[in-house]
Amino acid sequence: MILIDGKKVAAELRQELKKEVAELKIKYNKVPGLTVILVGELAPSKIYVKNKEKSANEVGLKSEVIRYPDSVEEKIILDKINELNNDSSVSGILVQLPLPKHIDKQKVIEAILPGKDVDGFHPMNVGNLSSGYESSIPCTPLGCYLLIKKIEPNLSGKKAVIIGRSNLNGKPMTQLLLKENCTVTITHSKTKDLKGECLKGDIIVAAVGMPELVKGDWVKKDAIVIDVGINKTDKGIVGDVAFDEVSKVAKALTPVPGGVGPMTIACLLKNTIECFKRSN
Ligand code: NAP
Repeated sequence: MILIDGKKVAAELRQELKKEVAELKIKYNKVPGLTVILVGELAPSKIYVKNKEKSANEVGLKSEVIRYPDSVEEKIILDKINELNNDSSVSGILVQLPLPKHIDKQKVIEAILPGKDVDGFHPMNVGNLSSGYESSIPCTPLGCYLLIKKIEPNLSGKKAVIIGRSNLNGKPMTQLLLKENCTVTITHSKTKDLKGECLKGDIIVAAVGMPELVKGDWVKKDAIVIDVGINKTDKGIVGDVAFDEVSKVAKALTPVPGGVGPMTIACLLKNTIECFKRSN
């Protein structure tokens, strides 16, 4: 079984991006800039943002984090986004989710200029991705896609089963694999016979948020299994895939942690650079 080392692949990607940033600096006499807006004090959000800032600095991006208290008014955020939209030194804007309840998440997402939407959540980017046009691609599914391609460069005709249909993960993952000519089944909480669906998959991507949902006897021999889930349990952080069982049947499997997670941040940096290149 191939253990898909997301940490290693992400480190390689960051090295490539660092080189690219250095080349862009020579060509344009400036570097791509990423601005993150963080509202409130949620511990996981603070950790993500800190890691994003560290990785952005590592590859040579100009990085800034703007922090607001939980009580901040929606208008302040929208005005700041407008200011950043008009700032040519800012290539990418990311508003860390979740936001406090009094702030309309959709309004905030739609306020970001699609060309600076490094998360790929703006409806214009969602539409472009599903139409097969150039767009920002949500970072986690993009990371999964790059890991799958490392294992199997030619995905044409493969059967892919996606578990979970969120805008963040399942839906964009579906679009990416469709573009690669996979036959894609997207499953969710109302799917009948999830095990039967999974057993048909040459590729399984689990993005649910249920510890060890996917069992060893749900997986076809030699399938590629990508585990997006991050679940806190008594035995620590586990994914949506029962690692020990599935590792005995799968051809390749991502661990949790150390699989998809590191790729998400590397892909955010990649998206920032892509936004910079498109705007120049
Ligand atoms: P989400 O928005 O809660 O969506 C979960 C999806 O799973 C929904 O479509 C839901 O179906 C489906 N589902 C729930 N129970 C199910 C069941 N028993 N069988 C089949 N499908 C079921 O979650 P998300 O934001 O996509 O995140 C999913 C997981 O990925 C979480 O653990 C999250 O922490 C993790 N995550 C990891 C990263 C990373 O970088 N590694 C990034 C983002 C998220 P319905 O639509 O029918 O409700």
